[in-house]
Parts: sequence; structure tokens; C-alpha cells
Amino acid sequence: MPTSLTLKWRRALHRHGEDGSHQDQHFLALLLDAWSNRRPAGPFGFTVSVATGIGAGAASIALQMALRGPASAPFSLQIAVGATVGAIAMIATRQRFAAQKARQAATTALASSFLDASRDCVKLLDLQGHMLRINDYGATLMEATSPVQLAGADWLGFWKGDDNDAATAAFRSALNGTPASFRGVCTTTTGQPKWWDSQLIPVKDHAGKVVAVVCASLDITSQTQLLQQLRAKSELMSEMEAHVKLVFFSYSANFEYFHYITAGSSNVFGVEPDEFMRNPHVWRDMVVPEDRAALHAEMARIMAESSEGRAQYRIRKADGSVRWLRSTGYPVLDDKGNVLRIVGITEDVTIEQERVAELDRLAYTDSLTGLANRAALLREIASRCAAGQPFGLMFVDLDRFKVLNDTLGHLAADHLLRNVAGVIRRSLPGDAYVARLGGDEFAVLIRSVVDKAGLETQAKALLGGLSENRLQDSAGAFITASIGISIYPEHGSGHDALLSSADVAMYAAKKTGRNGYQFAGEEAARTIGDFELERDVPEALKTNQFFLHFQTIHEPHSLAVHSAEALIRWQHPRRGRISPGDFIPLLEETGFVEDVGVWVLDNALRQLAAWRQAGSMNLGVSVNVSARQLGSEQIVREVDRALKQYGIPPGKLEIELTETALMKNPKQAQKSIVELKRLGVRIAIDDFGTGYSSLMYLADFEPHTLKIDQHFTSKIEHDPTTQTIVEGVIGLAHKLGIQVIAEGVEEAAQLEILRRVNCDYVQGFLLSRPQPPEGLITPA
Ligand code: C2E
Ligand code: MG
Ligand code: MG
Repeated sequence: MPTSLTLKWRRALHRHGEDGSHQDQHFLALLLDAWSNRRPAGPFGFTVSVATGIGAGAASIALQMALRGPASAPFSLQIAVGATVGAIAMIATRQRFAAQKARQAATTALASSFLDASRDCVKLLDLQGHMLRINDYGATLMEATSPVQLAGADWLGFWKGDDNDAATAAFRSALNGTPASFRGVCTTTTGQPKWWDSQLIPVKDHAGKVVAVVCASLDITSQTQLLQQLRAKSELMSEMEAHVKLVFFSYSANFEYFHYITAGSSNVFGVEPDEFMRNPHVWRDMVVPEDRAALHAEMARIMAESSEGRAQYRIRKADGSVRWLRSTGYPVLDDKGNVLRIVGITEDVTIEQERVAELDRLAYTDSLTGLANRAALLREIASRCAAGQPFGLMFVDLDRFKVLNDTLGHLAADHLLRNVAGVIRRSLPGDAYVARLGGDEFAVLIRSVVDKAGLETQAKALLGGLSENRLQDSAGAFITASIGISIYPEHGSGHDALLSSADVAMYAAKKTGRNGYQFAGEEAARTIGDFELERDVPEALKTNQFFLHFQTIHEPHSLAVHSAEALIRWQHPRRGRISPGDFIPLLEETGFVEDVGVWVLDNALRQLAAWRQAGSMNLGVSVNVSARQLGSEQIVREVDRALKQYGIPPGKLEIELTETALMKNPKQAQKSIVELKRLGVRIAIDDFGTGYSSLMYLADFEPHTLKIDQHFTSKIEHDPTTQTIVEGVIGLAHKLGIQVIAEGVEEAAQLEILRRVNCDYVQGFLLSRPQPPEGLITPA
């Protein structure tokens, strides 16, 4: 800009102050002046100014002549004046004409430059709305090949629907002399929709009449699309925030105030975001008191360590409902590692928590009784041990439940167990932790009483509860239980020791007559061996831990083998070889002896079949049968089956029954004996002479054989009375048609005496020890 223009502009500014439109007008006027001053007038301007000069000169001469008359001045002078006036007029006209022309040219150039410089789509519209002119850039925006393509096009025709209404209204306004603007979509020449922000400005002539309309449209397509995307995103976010049970937040670094919290807060906390901004502690006051310490500790840790953290806690909402929430906070750090803020989310995890609780409940509940199960008990014991406070553990086992289960049937037994669970609960203090371990076993943890006297009272209360409720089995017998009690820490520091010592004590209680209780301790521990053995029987049967030894029975003179007695052995995996005297009485109590008895019978007869096959056709076999076996009818069926299965003549099998076995249930024993005899099986009375009324049995059971107990045999040599008794028994037996076997013959002298007193057969270490069957018998 020339310096003179700048100075003029400054003066104009000074004169007109800050008024923008005046400034623009003045600036343009100055610019055009400055610009047009430097423009030549051109040949047309020259011709007009020459003609004007000639005209002015001639007019001047004529005027002189008219005013002063022909003699007033010499003509030459008049010519000279006329010429001068003409010349001046010519110069003046020429200059004015040149200035006008230059100004027009400058205006056109300036307008063109503005048009070309504009990044808008600028159109000049006639009063009908046809495009008279569009700038180059506008044509490009409209994707036209050149401005010419759009010349004469109907501008309003580009707008559709509501946009057309808006365009028409704006155009009318401009026609009426008022600038207007609107936003809308119109398609380009290639059919591409574009968003425009259009301004319509009326163009007025010097009389103020609107002669045209300028329309400047800004292409706001990308901006609008961006806005639309942002709006869509924001709507989506708002929807999500409002609907999901999730809150996003930005917290100050010290958890003092919120920068931002999403609308989800009303969902999760029932508190609007505004309230959080006003009162940042509002949510902390909602946290249930028990969960506050852990939550605050985690918040403090996040601040102290500048690392992310998470807390799960419960809140009580205004409506009283309790919800589980999980908050995760992530510290945002600056370059120096300072915490700027803590951003994070809080979600409602109540459903998840309820599922976990339900799974936990299922995993730790006994489905039959609804009590805690074994896993829950173990967990509870572990946690109580960890707490280090003394507590009592009661191990409760129903008496004779195996029998109950068998006789009642499972449904009734289940019902009974549920009733028992209820009785246990009601009989004990409210804080007693009652669990069912399985079957008829229950366990109770008692924290409120830990001294023996107190626990004894509790045990009595439980047993009393059972007897008061008079729960009965199918036979009408009342249900009783045996209880073993251990105390933490006296009897163990963990569940293994506590449970097993209570278990042993319970077993001891059973041994001492059932329906009672026993504390863990030495006395109870003594029975643990028996207890374990009893439990191991099913496994022993499955894994062949039992086997048979045979001891031969001989004819006393020739010492020919008459038969062999099968004697069971148990090779226990931990305890080694166990003798039948130690485990048979145990099996008797539990009923396992029946299963084991069948096993013995089978194996003894299979062995005899093998010996017979090898040629020992006269050999017999003796099998010991216990009281319990004799008490059921099963024995007869099993003997019958086994004899048939192995093809043994019944007379080759002798069943040995002890006097004690016969004593226990003489009626049932007699019944079984009669039926066994009917099968053709021989019956022997074992250990004869050790019972109280031995001779009675001879009459009642009419056995085929008597086995004089080794106690007599051992004394026969040195004790004449014993010798007399033995001799008398043999004589009596023979009179009744009963044969006699002497057991426990260890010395030749004993054998001699037995031969003399006509003992039929002898058995003892002198002749053979019990041993494996292989090679024991050689056919005669
Ligand atoms: P038992 O039927 O009177 O068997 C004889 C016992 O005396 C056997 O002891 C045998 O080893 C032992 N014996 C044999 N000869 C002599 C001897 O000369 N001197 C001494 N001191 N002892 C001798 P074991 O095998 O320990 O059996 C003990 C008891 O266990 C048997 O007494 C029997 O009542 C019972 N028993 C053995 N096997 C079975 C079985 O399979 N079922 C049942 N229910 N009871 C069995
Ligand atoms: Mg025997
Ligand atoms: Mg015996």
C-alpha cells in the first residue's frame, strides 16, 4: 500500500472512529482512488475530451460575440480566448473521464479479486434466482467443470424439502432488501450432498432498489459430518451412561472433589452427577460401615503408591437397598510422575456377587439337610484355628444307622436325617455351627463353651434332644447317637487332628454302649486301631488283602490227613499281617463279617475242589462261621450256592461254630444249623469247653463234631483232671454219635494220650502249622 494511502487511511480512521462499515467504505474509496489515479483514460476518453474542448472553445467565441458585439474585441482575440477555453474544457473532461473509467476498472478488478479470493461458493443471482455469475472456487465446490456450467442455473432448484423452504425464505428476504442466512443440504452437479451455510445479501442500485442478490455459501459438509458424528457419539455415550450400571469419573488427585462424573451415578448410587460435584463425599457416607476401612485403605494406597487400585464394597442406597459396587481407580500422572487426577469406573456388581454367593452356598451346603457340608466345616475349622480362639468340636454319629438305612429305605432315612439335623440345631446354642459330613455323621463347632463340663452339658442336651423328639426307625426303636468331642487347641491345631480325634472319641463312645459321648484323649486313642481296621475292610476285599491259610486235621494213629481248616489272614497295607483273633470280632460288630465270610467260604471250597481234582477225593474242609453269620439266613443260601458252584459233596464241608456264636442267638442259630444239616453239611462245635453250658449244646444242636479247645489239650499231659474230663467228653460224644477233634496238639505226649482216649482226630502245630495251601496236601 502506498505510503500516502496509509496516511489517508489513518486520517480517515481518526475521523470516523471505530465504526466498521464506515471504515470499510472509506478504505475502499481510498483504495479505488489511489488505484484509478494511476490508470490512463484510453482512446475513447481522448476522443470525448477533444470534442468537449472544441465544443467549449466554439461556445466561448459565440458567447463573446453575443455579449459584447462584433466591435468589442478583435476576432483574433476572441478566437484565442475560445481556443483557450476549449483547451481547458478538453483537458478537464479528459481528466474526469479518465478517472471515472479507471475507477470502474478498479472496481471490477477488485470485485473479481474478492470473488476469486473467497473460499465460499459466491453467486450473483438475478431477481428470479438465476445464477448470473459464480466464482471459480464456488464452481469447484459445486463440482462443476467450470463456472459456465452453472451460468443461468436456477439456484432455488438446488434445494429440496425443508431446505428449499429455508432457501426461498432467505432469498425473499434479500429481495426485500434484508440480508438473510440459512443452513441446508443441496447436492452438487455430480449428485453429492453437501451442507452449506449461506448468506444472501441484496445488491442495491443508487436509488436503493434491489437489483440482484449475492449468495455466499460456506461448504460446511465435513464440519457438519464431524458434528453429526460427535453428536451421535455423544448421544450414544449419554445413552450408555444413563442406562448401564456404570459410572465414569475423574477425581482430584487427593480424592477431594470430582472433575467429572457421568450420568450413570444416578443409576449406580441413586445420586445425580450435580450432587457429586456439590458434595464429593456423598457416596462415602453411603458405604456400609463394615466396608469403609478397607475402601479407605485402598484409596490411601492408590495415592501413596500412585498406582491403580480396586475396591469392592457395599452401599446402602436412599431406598434402603444394599448394593455391591466395585470401583477401579487409575492415577493419571504428569511428566514428573505427580498424580494429576484419578480417573476410573464404578460398577454395580450385585448380581455377580449374588451369583458368587449362590455358588458358594451350593458348594458349601449339604443338599439334604441345608446344613453346612464337609467342605464348609473344614473351612470354618481352618478359619477358627487361624483366629486362635479355643472351641469345641463334636462329632455326632447316629447309632445303628447302617441297619436303619437298610430297613427304612433311602427316602425314609433321608427324612429321618433331616429331622435329626433339626433336633441338633434346636438342642444347641444359637452360635453352634452345625454341619453334616455325609451319611449319618454330623459335626458341631461350639465357641461359646470350651471347658469339658460345658461341652458335656451340650452333648447331653443334644442326646436329650434326640430322645425327647422320639425319632423312630421302622421297627419303632428310638434313634440315638454317639458323640466324640475334641477341643482346639488341646486335641489338635488343624481340622485333620481335631476331626480324627473327635472321630476316635465318637467310636469309643459307641464301644462303651452307644447313646453317649466321649472326649478325645488316650482312652479314645486306644480304639483308633480297631476303628481304622473296620474302615479298611471294603478296600481289603477289593484289593485281595485277605487270604487263607490251611491247617490240616489228622487221624491220630496213621497221621493221615483227614481234612484241612481254613483260617483267614489279613495282609494290611500299613499294619502288616493281622491275626483273625484281632479283626474278626471287629467285623462281627459292623456286619462286615458276612461279606468276609462269603469270601472265605468261596475260597475254601475252591481250594478243596482243586485238591479233589489233584486226587484227594476224601479230603474235607472246615470253615469257621461267626455268630453274626449264623444270625442271618444268608449263610444257608451261600453255602448251598458255593457247594454247587465248586461241585463239592456237602458232607465234605464242616462248618465250625464257636460256643459264643451259638450263645448269642440260639434260636436263629438253631434254625440255620437245621437248614445247613438239611443240605448235608457237617456241623462242628469249636473251642468246646470254653463256654458255660457246653454240654447243653450237644443236645440242642446235635453237631457232627466237637473240637476240644486247645486249653484242655495243653493241660492234658500234666493235669489228670483235665485228662479225665477230655476222656469223659470223648466217651459222651461217641455215645451221641459225635466225633471229636483235639485242637492245639503241640507235643508228642499229648498225641499219645489222645490216641489212648480214642480221640478221633488231632490238629496242632505238632502235625502242621496253618500255612498256604500250595504243597500242603499230597494225595494218598
Ligand atoms: P480256631 O477256629 O479255634 O482256630 C484255631 C486257632 O488255633 C488258629 O488260630 C490256629 O492257628 C491256632 N492253632 C492251631 N494249632 C495250634 C497249636 O498247636 N498251638 C497254638 N497255640 N495254636 C494253634 P488263628 O488262625 O489265629 O485263628 C484264631 C481264631 O480266629 C480261630 O480259632 C477262629 O475262631 C477265628 N477264625 C479264623 N479264621 C476264621 C474265618 O475264616 N472266619 C471266622 N468267622 N473266624 C475265623
Ligand atoms: Mg476253628
Ligand atoms: Mg478252636
